[in-house]
Amino acid sequence: MSQGKLFVISGASGVGKSTVLKLVMESRKDLRFSVSATTRPPRPDEKDGVNYYFVTKRRFEDMIAANAFVEYNAHMENFYGTPRDQLEEKLRTGNVILDIEPNGAFTVRAERPDAVLIFIAPPSMEELEHRLRTRGDTSPEQVQLRLERARWEMEQRGRYDYIVVNEQVKTCAEEILKIIADKAD
Ligand code: 5GP
Repeated sequence: MSQGKLFVISGASGVGKSTVLKLVMESRKDLRFSVSATTRPPRPDEKDGVNYYFVTKRRFEDMIAANAFVEYNAHMENFYGTPRDQLEEKLRTGNVILDIEPNGAFTVRAERPDAVLIFIAPPSMEELEHRLRTRGDTSPEQVQLRLERARWEMEQRGRYDYIVVNEQVKTCAEEILKIIADKAD
């Protein structure tokens, strides 16, 4: 049986989730990050086995067939999934953070009702649009697609246990740390 607490964090592209999560993980060395498998190519600063397990579509399909995922989902034309083995192994020895989108979050919740679901929201959709447009690495077409996806994700936020607004990275990380301390300690 698992002993650690499972924290599931979702937030739309451009909301600043990875920066917030980095601060959270730095503040609590006991938290383990569940490394997902994905078919999307690595970004320049990403490492295999650290940020993701970067796999081929064929390998991903084999993993689905082998029931190797707690959940998996297609997102913006790529597949993402939470490998069951490493999640259970990490939970045996501590508290775990999953960074996954809402469909995955709800599947995890169905399997593990004690999981704590946290949604990181932008201060407003206008602010999210501004962040996506000024980021410089996203084409106008991609901005539109991400905004549509973000609107849908925002509609799901009522199904989460906590909604934390990322007005300021530091304050947002502190709020999440408070939730974790409250639920895990
Ligand atoms: P990115 O490609 O920007 O790293 O992630 C895109 C989206 O996929 C993010 O919303 C992230 O939370 C989500 N994601 C990452 N890993 C998983 C996973 O294992 N399962 C699901 N369902 N979503 C994931």
